[in-house]
Amino acid sequence: MNVYLGIDLGRTKIAAAAVDVRTGERLLRLAVPTEAHEGPAAVIERMAALAGQVCAQINTPLDQIPAIGVSAPGLIDLEQGVTILLPSLPSGWRNVPLAANMTGLTSRPTVIINDARAFTLAEATFGAGRTARSVIGITLGAGIGGGIAIDGRLYLGVDGTAGEVGHMTIDPYGPRCGCGNRGCLETFASGPSITAMALRVVAQGMTTQIGALVDYDLNKITPGVIARAAEQGDTIAREILQRAGSCLGIGIANLVTIFSPERIVIGGGVSRLGEWILEPARAEVVARCHLKPLNQVQITLAQLGGDAEVIGAALWAAQRLAARG
Ligand SMILES: [Zn+2]
Repeated sequence: MNVYLGIDLGRTKIAAAAVDVRTGERLLRLAVPTEAHEGPAAVIERMAALAGQVCAQINTPLDQIPAIGVSAPGLIDLEQGVTILLPSLPSGWRNVPLAANMTGLTSRPTVIINDARAFTLAEATFGAGRTARSVIGITLGAGIGGGIAIDGRLYLGVDGTAGEVGHMTIDPYGPRCGCGNRGCLETFASGPSITAMALRVVAQGMTTQIGALVDYDLNKITPGVIARAAEQGDTIAREILQRAGSCLGIGIANLVTIFSPERIVIGGGVSRLGEWILEPARAEVVARCHLKPLNQVQITLAQLGGDAEVIGAALWAAQRLAARG
């Protein structure tokens, strides 16, 4: 049986899909609201129920699914299948035995993986990195995550956290980050940090159309609104995106220097800014990396869209099951 279940636990929604792990084909995907305020037990029950619904709709009994993979937004203990901290969810899900509880409800072996690592595994295998042997994935969203895949396998480090590219230091004196460090990439190029730069310039009364584009309802400013202003020639908006892209490029230059990967694949909601951030990022890499021919390193957008996490989670389940023999 090559069909595994991948489940993506998100802040606002849970997605579950049946995935053929030989081809990456997603047979069916369903999603429901996470309702995270109800707490981990209720959310895990909802995930198990969704897994049952996916199986019912593809006419496959749940007990024929070899294993379930769950991608989770935060720090996890890979070996124990326990969440350590999911900062975007209420209560933080400290020490929740997610894998064991899912197995209890579904009777299927369940493994868990960080969501950005799931993204990277899927993109490296079936997406924008599929023809490359070494791939670094970067997810730009409310936070910045990442992963490292070599020859179709994740490199996870001693504790599963290898690839946390959002928390590399870009500016030693930069803003305080949620992780406790200062000047992390996440404080310059995540969605909220880009939006915060726009809020600041509007509040300072600088000459920009960003405020007018949201009728001065500043809660409505998003990276997309800033890009719209930039498209209309707004100098301040262009500077904001240029700065975010440059900081991303400094981070990528560091990754290129250390890993010399064939491909860097960028996804997440903020990646919809496209060339507005990729162009300054590429320029920064050219300016900073002098030791290698950069035509061998491609910096490219992800291809699997919102399916990457569920596909990666299913693939992770298949790889772990095979490794356990
Ligand atoms: Zn940080």
